[in-house]
Amino acid sequence: MAFPLILVGAAALLLLKARSRRNGGTRSSGRQPSPLDVLPGIDWNGLDASTQRFAHQLAREAAEEGIPVVVTSGRRSASSQASAMLYKVGQGEDLSKLYRDKGQIAALMGAPRNVASWTAILASYAASGRPISRHMTSASFDIRTRNLDRDEIEDLFDIVSEMGGRAVIEADHLHVSPYR
Ligand SMILES: [Zn+2]
Repeated sequence: MAFPLILVGAAALLLLKARSRRNGGTRSSGRQPSPLDVLPGIDWNGLDASTQRFAHQLAREAAEEGIPVVVTSGRRSASSQASAMLYKVGQGEDLSKLYRDKGQIAALMGAPRNVASWTAILASYAASGRPISRHMTSASFDIRTRNLDRDEIEDLFDIVSEMGGRAVIEADHLHVSPYR
């Protein structure tokens, strides 16, 4: 009677180990006093409750592999979205590769490149029900990646996908949404 139970237990253990084995199984876990680290000064409370729950669950799963989850951006107003996008342009990033609506990006890139100009455009997109980013609809957050190696970033990407969300690897962060 005990023999099948042992087999079931062993199978469950193998499943639990599958992910850590992918990383070589050498990571310690549980070193973070709090699984989710939210930077001060960002609009975390403005995110949907379901998005916040998703972030906490992601942090718990990542912590099991010893991967810290630091949230560097939450909900964004039109002006904070404008600032974030202008920063990317300043870093030489191609916005048309990061955002789905190429027409909106073309319009922004053709407009004066300052926060006031882009804020007005981004606010008009949001008002017409076509927000350029889920940060503006309270359904996205960013995770710092400069403290992670390539495997850890890919592991986070995989965890988000397994949870049914969508992740985009950007220059210095992972952009995460709780749904696709
Ligand atoms: Zn983002």
